[in-house]
Amino acid sequence: MATSPLDMLDVDDLLSDEERDVRSVTRRVVDDHVRPYVADWYERGAVPVRELALEFGKLGLLGMHLTGYGCAGASAVQYGLACMELEAADSGVRSLVSVQGSLAMYAIWKYGSEEQKQQWLPGMAAGELIGCFGLTESDHGSDPANMSTRARRDGDDWILTGGKMWITNAPVADVAVIWARADTGVLGFAVPTTTPGFSAREIANKLSLRASSTGEITLDEVRLPASAQLPAAQGLKAPLSCLTEARFGIIWGSLGAARDCLETAISYAVSREQFGRPLAGFQLTQAKLADMTLELQKGYLLALHLGRRPTLRPEQVSVGKLNNVREALKIARQCRTILGANGISGEYPVLRHANNLESVLTYEGTSEVHQLVIGQRLTGLNAFGG
Ligand code: FAD
Repeated sequence: MATSPLDMLDVDDLLSDEERDVRSVTRRVVDDHVRPYVADWYERGAVPVRELALEFGKLGLLGMHLTGYGCAGASAVQYGLACMELEAADSGVRSLVSVQGSLAMYAIWKYGSEEQKQQWLPGMAAGELIGCFGLTESDHGSDPANMSTRARRDGDDWILTGGKMWITNAPVADVAVIWARADTGVLGFAVPTTTPGFSAREIANKLSLRASSTGEITLDEVRLPASAQLPAAQGLKAPLSCLTEARFGIIWGSLGAARDCLETAISYAVSREQFGRPLAGFQLTQAKLADMTLELQKGYLLALHLGRRPTLRPEQVSVGKLNNVREALKIARQCRTILGANGISGEYPVLRHANNLESVLTYEGTSEVHQLVIGQRLTGLNAFGG
């Protein structure tokens, strides 16, 4: 009897019934509303963000680890398992949920005023309102401390000027959490996207994360009332704390993409014959499958360990993000080889996952940035430059 690659070590025995329930419910919604369509969305480079958000909102998947304001108050491991199931379908769909919950909602939940929380969070949790998170700029990615976007006061109002690049959900968002430099340091703003001077255009020609809406935001003298500023966010540590939240979801999500690739490769290798026997019967194929399964299992144990910690330090999240995304990408590429020419076809999910994981490797801190975070912790030396 064949064992599924994620069941080799019975890690599932470490999950509670409630955790397994979240996983099955998420798997069901993904099977019904994502899997049958996602290859087509990817091919067309268009994804029905609003419809999906409403479906996910019904299940409490948006901002699910937050409490109050219509959020589900789930545990870290439940959130991680949901991310794993979403990304087993497509990294772009998991990105939608991560950006909504861990970046946009978390920023408002953690740093917003009571009025801002009441205004945005219940609608965002329900999927009726979409949020985005604008930190990256075209000239400032890994180094957001040098951001060019400015916030200046005009009486009680704030005026935002500048631009943000590579912003997930921006073209469809109702609210944009924008990070800008003021005289006092980096501040955050909850910007209604209907505000005059705010515009977001879809970034075309992506070869990765095509089932995700990604935009470039222009802020042309965007006038905001004082009440739009997130009062508790002072300095770059505020947006960085949001990234720590989102990175946690990626630690789990990337394993979902890898699992889907490995399951696809195993079933393909068992059924396709060359030289008179199934590909899975060749020792070289089995060596690949065994090595990939080791990495998948180790990644799962790592994710579960981090998920069970009462708190996480940034470098611990870096260990998880660096390892699991890097290994997931290697698994996706290796699985692609097992499928031969069919591996490059959109009929199979494998190259789509591999292409997506290139984005996942880069966003939420590149692999190099996470190496530098870990290196700094090990040596006490900052090697980021500057
Ligand atoms: P750069 O910073 O220019 O880096 C280029 C290369 O140089 C990388 O390999 C990097 O690791 C390396 N490098 C940079 N500095 C160092 C150093 N000190 N030492 C060694 N190597 C270094 N951003 C948002 O704010 N919100 C979003 O919703 C969002 N969504 C995204 C969606 C997609 C599909 C993508 C691709 C990106 C998204 N991003 C988003 C942006 C993402 O976070 C940035 O792309 C990322 O931070 C890297 O910045 P960069 O692309 O400018 O690369």
